[in-house]
Amino acid sequence: MDAKAATQGAATARAASGGRSEAASATWAEAGSACRRGAPAVLPFGALEQHGPHLPLSTDTIMAAWLSEKVADAVDGWLLPAVPLGDTSANDGFPGTVTLSFDTVRAIATDVGRSLKRTGFPCLIIVNGDWGNRAALGQAARDLAAGGWPVLVVDYPGLAEVASAVCETPAAGAGFYHADEVETSAVLALHPELVHMELAVAGYPEMPATLGSTPTDLSRLSPSGVFGDPRPATATKGHAILDALADRAVELVRSFLAGVAATGTGGPATTPVTPK
Ligand SMILES: [Zn+2]
Repeated sequence: MDAKAATQGAATARAASGGRSEAASATWAEAGSACRRGAPAVLPFGALEQHGPHLPLSTDTIMAAWLSEKVADAVDGWLLPAVPLGDTSANDGFPGTVTLSFDTVRAIATDVGRSLKRTGFPCLIIVNGDWGNRAALGQAARDLAAGGWPVLVVDYPGLAEVASAVCETPAAGAGFYHADEVETSAVLALHPELVHMELAVAGYPEMPATLGSTPTDLSRLSPSGVFGDPRPATATKGHAILDALADRAVELVRSFLAGVAATGTGGPATTPVTPK
């Protein structure tokens, strides 16, 4: 096949999957074509961690992968396979949780970014599914940005607002959504066959003031692993939550890409401050 035919093949593959190209099923020729058209790379970053007795360990990966598809569709992105593990040491007290260290998460994101940069992708959008990854992904983004390559970490923008608009039950703590009405509704919308609603229980443990400031074993706070109340969850609520999150994520990504186009960094154009 000549180069023109390969490019046509890439366009056909893109048309079949919305605006995105999927790296896992593409060829290197299609990757080259994505680089030439300036496709932003999109990396879903998940986790394998307990989500109560009723949700799958891969809940965060499922949500990040879905949101990444929406982002990649909206911006003709180059969609990478999801990283199915993350930094989730707070859930180590539960069987099935597999934790990567901060350094490993940082290294995976940084190595993925370096590879993409080397072959000509203009930037990276990481869609994070688990709050435990935040610090390491933020550091990886700074590492790559310091090398002149823009990275955006998307962390469920506007989640608190979306959750309170759709859900009947409150969060277990400020900004704390885990195996609750939000996540259960989302998985009911995306993979209902993986949800065991008959096992869903509520969990509103007393949250210590030190949570987030010192390493905390969540199994000591909530033996079920649930933080919140999953029982009123429905697929309809899940679609409402996911669609609202996708809208906000795409808006954030578009402003990042506008920054990349304008300044090459993804951030606002800045002028160095001179000391007075
Ligand atoms: Zn989760």
